[in-house]
Amino acid sequence: MSEKFNLFLNGSWKETDEKLEVLNKYTGEVFAEVSKAGENDVDYAIESAAEAFGSRGLSPYDRFEVLKKVADGLREERDAFAKTMVQEAGKPIQQALTEVDRAVQTMELSAEEAKRISGQGVPVEAAPGSENRMAFTIRVPVGVVGAITPFNFPLNLVAHKIGPAIAAGNAVVLKPASATPVTALKLAALFEKAGLPAGLLNVIVGSGSVVGKQMQEDGRISTYTFTGSAEVGLKLKQNTGLNKLILELGNNSPVIVDKDADVDKAATTLATAGFAFAGQTCITPQRLYVHHSVKDAFEKKLVKEVEKVQVGDPMDENTAVGPMIAKEEAKRAEDWVNKAAENGAKILTGGTREGAVYQPTVITGATKDMSVVCEEIFAPVVSIIAYEDLDTCIAELNESPYGLQGGIFTQNLDTAFFAARNVQVGGLIVNDSSQYRVDLMPYGGVKDSGWGKEGPKYSIEEMTKERLVVLNLNQ
Ligand code: NAP
Repeated sequence: MSEKFNLFLNGSWKETDEKLEVLNKYTGEVFAEVSKAGENDVDYAIESAAEAFGSRGLSPYDRFEVLKKVADGLREERDAFAKTMVQEAGKPIQQALTEVDRAVQTMELSAEEAKRISGQGVPVEAAPGSENRMAFTIRVPVGVVGAITPFNFPLNLVAHKIGPAIAAGNAVVLKPASATPVTALKLAALFEKAGLPAGLLNVIVGSGSVVGKQMQEDGRISTYTFTGSAEVGLKLKQNTGLNKLILELGNNSPVIVDKDADVDKAATTLATAGFAFAGQTCITPQRLYVHHSVKDAFEKKLVKEVEKVQVGDPMDENTAVGPMIAKEEAKRAEDWVNKAAENGAKILTGGTREGAVYQPTVITGATKDMSVVCEEIFAPVVSIIAYEDLDTCIAELNESPYGLQGGIFTQNLDTAFFAARNVQVGGLIVNDSSQYRVDLMPYGGVKDSGWGKEGPKYSIEEMTKERLVVLNLNQ
């Protein structure tokens, strides 16, 4: 018997006639049935948020308390949240538990930041003729935030939107990914339990092309925060007019392994990071640029480590690579790898598929025009590209339209700084994989990877407006 979930609208749970079946991504069985939002439900969610923002806003301390209670609730229900993600996302249990721990951090950080929202002094008195004036800025909430989230971090990426939005004093309408709506609805239940006033959070479920589209066209939403593919991000940009838009988009992370790198460390690190959640994270190392002098040693060690990775049932605590989100996605990855092999690349390990499970795959001899390199593969596949000199390597890797995070392994400080100045990314990680992220850091991409930063402190800046106040004093 599958579990049933409803929409969260204006503080109440609403069942609708049309249902979305959520599959267990490993077994393929239906594990949950979720009410789908119709046009009126989307309208009511936005209306409720606008009304709650106008009449039921919380003080900063009350926001702190609610968010802290949600963090505590997540901590208490750690196992239950993780198991939901194993089922609806196919995320291996250890990685799902880590995601819950990170979401606790995200909520706690949001709670703390709710008490630190402040403007700045502006020395207008320094302008000739303004000697009798003083000025400062205050930060005010933007109003209704429309949040749209992807399937790959069904809890923490939702937390990164709702936490800061509530901390900043806004109301939220959230549309989670259709593949993984249950975790978001369970999170909404924690907000309800924590005493968030009705309407400040609304969760509507339904397809992006219908529900997401209706959200884009509603002028009552003042700020959109979207995480997902560049393709959908572009649609949002084209359809949301002059409203504010925060975009966290796709990527094909580069990692350089330079001639002075600790090759063993690089290979061991990348053998884990390249395949976590079956490569379906936006900062998964995908393009590995390896100096030709260490290429053989690196490949040998990487393949040895990758072949140790346990693949299969995500509920098994030793599993590191489970299913991809859908069989079609695994098939797409398989096609790209096969095409690369037909065009001269060599598969060093992996390259096989069973249903939605794609074996961790290492390719060498890939070139920049192959899809495995120039597009976002979002699958457990890394491609090794040998290089002769760092200048040319960086020029080539910068040809990518994406730029979220990258990495470099080197023991040479000058090389690390040279890369930090020249690799076009939002963040460069030295001596670790591109995948390093903790939730307090500023996180966001350049180029087609989006704009605006996440991390509660930075999101709150994005989700508030700075207002200048000038005092004309009689002195
Ligand atoms: P996606 O297909 O772009 O979907 C993301 C969200 O957008 C889903 O909720 C989806 O709804 C919705 N959507 C789809 N079409 C829409 C439309 N026309 N209007 C409004 N909303 C629409 O992405 P995904 O496959 O879930 O996630 C993978 C992508 O996210 C990758 O590209 C990855 O790199 C990126 N990502 C980026 C970051 C980052 O921080 N930069 C983090 C994680 C993931 P449905 O589910 O109903 O289609």
